[in-house]
Amino acid sequence: MRKKESYRPRTRLVHEGQNRSSFGETSEALYLTSGFVYDSAEQAEARFREEDDGYIYSRFGNPTVRMFEERMMALEGAEDARATATGMAAVTAAMLSLLQAGDHVVAARALFGSCRYIVETLLPRYGIETTLVDGRDTDAWEQAMRPTTKVMFLETPSNPVLEVIDMQAVADIAHAHGARLVVDNVFATPILQRPLDFGADIVVYSATKHIDGQGRCLGGIILGNEAYVRDELANFMRQTGPALAPFNAWVMLKSLETLPVRVDAHCDNAEKLVDFLNTHDKVGRVIYPGDKTHPQYDLACRQMTRGGNLIAFDVGADKADAFRFADNLHIAAISNNLGDAKTLITHPATTTHFRLDDAAKAELGIRPTSLRVSIGLEDPADLVEDFERALDTI
Ligand SMILES: *Cc1c(COP(=O)(O)O)cnc(C)c1O
Repeated sequence: MRKKESYRPRTRLVHEGQNRSSFGETSEALYLTSGFVYDSAEQAEARFREEDDGYIYSRFGNPTVRMFEERMMALEGAEDARATATGMAAVTAAMLSLLQAGDHVVAARALFGSCRYIVETLLPRYGIETTLVDGRDTDAWEQAMRPTTKVMFLETPSNPVLEVIDMQAVADIAHAHGARLVVDNVFATPILQRPLDFGADIVVYSATKHIDGQGRCLGGIILGNEAYVRDELANFMRQTGPALAPFNAWVMLKSLETLPVRVDAHCDNAEKLVDFLNTHDKVGRVIYPGDKTHPQYDLACRQMTRGGNLIAFDVGADKADAFRFADNLHIAAISNNLGDAKTLITHPATTTHFRLDDAAKAELGIRPTSLRVSIGLEDPADLVEDFERALDTI
């Protein structure tokens, strides 16, 4: 593609990174190979010395994986990236590439369950201390800072109750203390929110969610500046091996072509469902960053172009009501995954966040009546009817 930097994002999502083989294929090629051969022993030597920039081994890099990375870099406005086998591999590799024993991490307490495990349980085992704060409270971030703080970590909107965190405020605190901000941008997607524009240093994704978007493959990616990827991340990835498989990279790469169209349709559907839920008398609290009733609506509007496809809401009076509602949905399936073309609903208190004690759940606003729904791409009128019918059973 010529002069690609001048094209708009949707064009770049269809073309960026394509590296055509001598066959001139239209669709990006899938290089399903673990290794690469050299023309000579001399070339092999030069490649290991990094004097020749061909591929060596797919744990270090692969042409299909690189096409996915380059397309994501264009979308995110990042200088470089490394794709990973899963979203959790991305979070773990990002953290471990930045930290060593004696360092300190400050993280928002409202995190995806496994991210909270990494920060709260795993890192301390290796001598890295962590402090969890209410991410919405800027003073709490500032007060948690120590001379050894190297990383701040957050997701916004957060899982499962969609708290919004002021990324620029947290980034300013991080930078004033010589720390770096890592943002898990899964819920917003790279279409609706670009954390690098709000001061984040590193952005991580589970590509398993909206980027694949059709519930097929696991994947992840870490994006940042060139110096970080070259000096801190690349060798960590190469030696420890959380590489993305070429097949999964190919699925993700092709999915990026339709990501803006899908995310827009997801948001259209979610807005219709929010309007319905807001008026139903068996539905309590409805939390959606794109709705004026969200307590941080103004901040959400500053950071995100639309509200996304996740809605948190309370149904009935107790857990039994929430379960009855979920069990009586016909279209929406019970699943803890999200960002799928299929509408998926989960009861966070007994699934994704069941490990948290009652006090921690209460602190995060996860109630026995709370459900989190990932709105899919079905006809919204069918979804509204499905929800209405299920609500009638309680
Ligand atoms: C799903 C998810 C992850 C983990 O991603 P996997 O691909 O399942 O490993 C991390 N953070 C958030 C916010 C997620 O939704």
